[in-house]
Amino acid sequence: LNSRLQGFGTTIFATMSNLAIETNSINLGQGFPDTDGPHEIAKAAIDAINQGHNQYPPGIGIADLRAGVALHQKLYYSIDLDPNDQVLITAGATEAIAATFLALCEVGDEVIVFDPSYDSYSATIAMAGARVVPVTLSGPNWSFNPEELRNAITAKTRAILINSPHNPTGKVFSREELSQIARVVIEHDIVAITDEVYEHIIFRGAHYPLSTFDGMAQRTLTISSGAKTFSFTGWKIGWITGPSELVGAVRTAKQFLTYVNGAPFQVAIAFALSKGRYFADMIAPQLAPSREILIDGLRDFGLDPIKSDGTYFVTTDISPKTDLNALDYCMELAHKAQVVAIPSSTFYARPSDGSKLLRWTFSKRPQIISEAMERLKVIK
Ligand code: PMP
Ligand code: GLN
Repeated sequence: LNSRLQGFGTTIFATMSNLAIETNSINLGQGFPDTDGPHEIAKAAIDAINQGHNQYPPGIGIADLRAGVALHQKLYYSIDLDPNDQVLITAGATEAIAATFLALCEVGDEVIVFDPSYDSYSATIAMAGARVVPVTLSGPNWSFNPEELRNAITAKTRAILINSPHNPTGKVFSREELSQIARVVIEHDIVAITDEVYEHIIFRGAHYPLSTFDGMAQRTLTISSGAKTFSFTGWKIGWITGPSELVGAVRTAKQFLTYVNGAPFQVAIAFALSKGRYFADMIAPQLAPSREILIDGLRDFGLDPIKSDGTYFVTTDISPKTDLNALDYCMELAHKAQVVAIPSSTFYARPSDGSKLLRWTFSKRPQIISEAMERLKVIK
């Protein structure tokens, strides 16, 4: 393993999902739904296979899917995009993230990332030879200090990554916070990269794409995917949108990573997006009951969740229950109660900052969450 990837090892999601299997646990760790998305969308993929959509699609993605992404951005956010050069289809949001850093960063560049953060950012920033500069989000509102954000900017700052709704915390950045970020980005002439994969999984507040703020459209790359919105996380159909020069740069990197992916799934996600709000508006109401059961169950257990307004996740501070650190407590929960969560330490630039935090997913059926909450009762 080269020096850039030293320390990245195996992702926490693989580790904890394996632990769940070994201990016969309910897996409230890795965020994926235990119910597939709408049958009509699955059928569109099956039909696409039967109709011969099985060879390489165009490098930028099939036209119907690019049109679907443009329609989605217009319908929800009044964003106008040319589907020919402002929309690029990728192998999930994950590839869009990697290709973006590989395309934009010089060796030694810095990328500002709110801390904690989703694990693929730091790994792909490292692969690009760049460096993460963390800006802290602190509870109970996961707010950041604008002064810390300004101080994080140096002559080497290439970009800032904003993930809202935010994994792992569930924070939905407010309009005011996004305006503050936009001001700093414009003032220092850097690029903003936004990860909006949970844009439709919001329970309080609203999602405002950063690209819609004054002066931001020409300097923002917006990433999302069909995984969470339509509950097909294994299909890996994602996209990136923005000004044509930036999207073109990402395309250059992307074509040598996967070139293309998922021809029949592209057709199916194009179908899903062509229905406008119909499918995308289903997901938050569908998850809401599981979220309620998890929040109530954790509260009864003695772990009051920290404010979470979106995503699949809530976070708890385990200090009231244990002296153990997050990873050891996860082990205890798996072995004694057969419930798996994720130690949030893994999401922090300095793992010790998250040594008392666990992330729990509610992206499971209500009865499964209820059963998990029952199981926790064996722990004092
Ligand atoms: N970004 C965030 C914040 C995520 O939680 C995930 C995991 N689903 C991804 C990106 C990856 O998305 P995809 O499955 O579309 O690659
Ligand atoms: N995004 C999901 C999570 O945060 C799954 C990530 C993964 O398996 N790489 O749990």
